Amino acid sequence: MRKVCYTDEMNERCIFHVDVNSAFLSWSAVKRLKEDPEAVDLRKIPSAVGGDVETRHGIITARSIPAKKLGIKTAEPVVKALQKCPDLVLVKSDFKTYREYSHEFIKILRKHAPVVQQASIDEAYLDFTGTKVASDPCKEAAAIKDEIRDSLGFTVNVGISVNKLLAKMASDFEKPDKIHTLYPDEIKEKMWPLPIGDLYGCGKRTAAKLENYGIRTIGEAAVTPLEVLISILGDNAGAYIYESANGISDSPVSEEERDAKSYSNESTISVDVDEKNFETVGLPVVHELAESVARRLARDGVFAGTIEASVKTDDFRRRSHQRKLINSTNDANLIEKTAIGLLEEMLKGDEGLFSKGFKVRLIGVGGTNLDRQEYRQMTLFDLMKGNSISLSDEMKKPDEGEERRAKLRKMMNDINSRYGEDAVFKGRKK
Ligand SMILES: [Mg+2]
Repeated sequence: MRKVCYTDEMNERCIFHVDVNSAFLSWSAVKRLKEDPEAVDLRKIPSAVGGDVETRHGIITARSIPAKKLGIKTAEPVVKALQKCPDLVLVKSDFKTYREYSHEFIKILRKHAPVVQQASIDEAYLDFTGTKVASDPCKEAAAIKDEIRDSLGFTVNVGISVNKLLAKMASDFEKPDKIHTLYPDEIKEKMWPLPIGDLYGCGKRTAAKLENYGIRTIGEAAVTPLEVLISILGDNAGAYIYESANGISDSPVSEEERDAKSYSNESTISVDVDEKNFETVGLPVVHELAESVARRLARDGVFAGTIEASVKTDDFRRRSHQRKLINSTNDANLIEKTAIGLLEEMLKGDEGLFSKGFKVRLIGVGGTNLDRQEYRQMTLFDLMKGNSISLSDEMKKPDEGEERRAKLRKMMNDINSRYGEDAVFKGRKK
């Protein structure tokens, strides 16, 4: 069994999470001020983006900090928001402007950091590990924050820590225009008192379940034995909450495949696959491949519009089929189902390769026709999932979506090996 220990090295990473404050609202405000310098600054009054401004239908997609203070929530119906605050100023979404500002924002980050991973339209992780910045990260954070504010006109929060999870949690502390650190030795003081629902990746349903058991803060979850969390939440979510509440995350800041045209994975099979063993031998391979493709898509915030399945037969020829999806996806389950459909087309039936006597030696699954997250128009579905503003990548809420479950399954495997037998919880490098 592979044993993974968290080493000192992992606590020497230097990771920033940079998050635009009330992004859509700020960007609408900045654009308005650019067009009319006399206009009121939407950020300074109760205001919100979303819905149909005339008919007052639809839902709130972003709100100003003063609106937030009045209890206006993201994803709530405009009608309800107006009941709370009749003077709420509503503005229409303007995705063209949002994409432009997002692009300028990322451009500045790339100027400063060697590795930038855009996590959604308004947030990114930066990795300064091994650079001079690591000795005085707050100074660099201030330089980035001020440059964005002074040259683009909107503010960001910067969270600094040794991993993405903690940096992300830190950037969510007091806003706007602030820098916060959340180093491992600050977790107890700064993160543990927070309500469990504030833990990144802890969805509403997960939080409610934990609260039922009296686990109300992140700190209470952190000191709850892993087995207990697993018995409440199941293997995957239990392990995820346990790790996260303890500030553990080893996810890399990765811009790899940023410009990739496709994400695919393939596997050579040790036995020849034919009609008889396709279900027992072939399908588990497809499952694994679909999960790995989904994981990489999600990690990079990319969605595939077309799914491809390929096989190499015993005559060493490669054949593939592809299918365009109605909506692009990074959902492992959908990728798997689509790939199975494509393989059945190729292999089964009177015209299929099996009928012609071929055997399969290799199976491949891939996603092409990629859609980067920041260019993906927000759908109602995204909003309902609570992903309206931060359409983030790999640490999505554990109680939602097959893709997330798949990821958690994988995490569980890692953790199983990590905590198995005499594995060290937070080990030292020997
Ligand atoms: Mg934001």
